[in-house]
Amino acid sequence: MFIDSHCHLSFPELSSQLPAILQAMQTAQVEQAICISTTLEEFPSVLALAESHPQLWASVGVHPDNEGVREPSVDELLRLAAHPKVLAIGETGLDYYRLNGRSIADMEWQRERFRVHIRAARACGKPLVVHTRSSSFDTLQVLKDEGQGAVKGVFHCFTEDLATAQAAVDLGFHISFSGILTFKNAEGLREVAKALPRERVLIETDSPYLAPVPFRGKLNTPALVPHVAAELARLWDESIETVAAITRRNTGALFGLPA
Ligand SMILES: [Zn+2]
Ligand SMILES: [Zn+2]
Repeated sequence: MFIDSHCHLSFPELSSQLPAILQAMQTAQVEQAICISTTLEEFPSVLALAESHPQLWASVGVHPDNEGVREPSVDELLRLAAHPKVLAIGETGLDYYRLNGRSIADMEWQRERFRVHIRAARACGKPLVVHTRSSSFDTLQVLKDEGQGAVKGVFHCFTEDLATAQAAVDLGFHISFSGILTFKNAEGLREVAKALPRERVLIETDSPYLAPVPFRGKLNTPALVPHVAAELARLWDESIETVAAITRRNTGALFGLPA
């Protein structure tokens, strides 16, 4: 019934207990999950998960927070994304939250890495999984400049304001909400979720982080994504089954999941 559109099952906290997590997903009716890459070094373990489990899928990309890792080229991303279980390019994007004494001008390496991912997504037609934190203006600008309206994708684990969400939707992007939507201090984010066109909304866990209430602070897994759906159901005044159906359809359409 549910799809977790963004998780990190290859991270050791989760991969060390994979059989229990897959069982918990089944019990919670979480039928599929997309395992997101954050480095090229990690990609083989992400792909292995997708290759050995029909309900798991993969992406390929290098997260903007990762420094000292191998830089991707467009050609390498295209070669790795050609695998039928690789649904998307990312996660990629910009993150100016931890500048560590640097200026935004110093982060050109992040913007260049982001451009490489956008070029790859344009070339292969697969969606882009975008991470943006404290950088929404530049994220949108780079997407406009490099994407030229020819790239679709999702702003994942969304925490920015409604103007940013609407600008992303206008660019043809989806918006994905994580367990943050259930946090006590996330009133502004709940207003964003209420205002967006429903056909553009996805749900995710971003596990192992950001477990939804009432599991906040505990280990997160894809089995908890129904708690994000329940919060959306409350905000939209819909049943959880309706939210599951809408987000499942949106995720399937964006990522080209078999029906
Ligand atoms: Zn992210
Ligand atoms: Zn992530």
